[in-house]
Amino acid sequence: MQIDIFTIFPKMFESPFDWGTIRIAKSKKIVSINVWDLRNFTNDIHRKVDDYPYGGSSGMVLKAEPILKAVRSVMTPDARVVLLTPAGKLYNQSLAQELSEESHLIFICGRYQGVDERVKDIINMEYPDKTMMEISIGNYVLSGGELACMSIVESITRLIPGVLKNPESMFADSLGELDPPLYTKPAEVEGVKVPEILTSGHHTKINQWNSTNRKQWTH
Ligand code: SAM
Repeated sequence: MQIDIFTIFPKMFESPFDWGTIRIAKSKKIVSINVWDLRNFTNDIHRKVDDYPYGGSSGMVLKAEPILKAVRSVMTPDARVVLLTPAGKLYNQSLAQELSEESHLIFICGRYQGVDERVKDIINMEYPDKTMMEISIGNYVLSGGELACMSIVESITRLIPGVLKNPESMFADSLGELDPPLYTKPAEVEGVKVPEILTSGHHTKINQWNSTNRKQWTH
């Protein structure tokens, strides 16, 4: 999978993408991630990516032209463009699964008051086969799309076959199943014991316990 991310703060991605699952996926060359500075797609000497909104509301808006130029510079016939926005479709495990099956994802991270609305209109006119997705990671407002994008990239990367060492875990994730309560050594901590069944060695009963005690998504 190829992932292209456009942001005005590319350095934010340096450390988070160098650890754990994402690092493994990159080193196995299962995922290739490019983080691009939106300012590199401006045409003026000040590398201006934002401007005041029409209509006089407060704050700044990310300009359409640098984003359109940026997206076009990496666009491929299979690419899916994703705009991070609090007004987007609420992200969940089944959306993670859907995105993990794409071969090329392009993320646009908003900042300030958001992104000029015409980015969506023009991209959808130009590439009608795959409409741009607008995704929110929750009903709250972040200062930028970067952390939302990192969460999405991590959640989809672990679903790509070959990334996780334990395929069972990937399978459970892809079905949207959560684990039951988990315990490790020692068998007793401050007087609280591991449920007896788990130390019984009785595999059928343990499996039964595990499947009936799976945690559930809260909504
Ligand atoms: N005033 C804007 C609005 O009403 O949509 C909020 C802009 S927010 C301060 C700046 C940027 O952060 C957004 O353009 C978006 O890219 C990102 N963002 C904020 N909350 C988000 C969320 N819950 N999910 C995804 N992206 C989010």
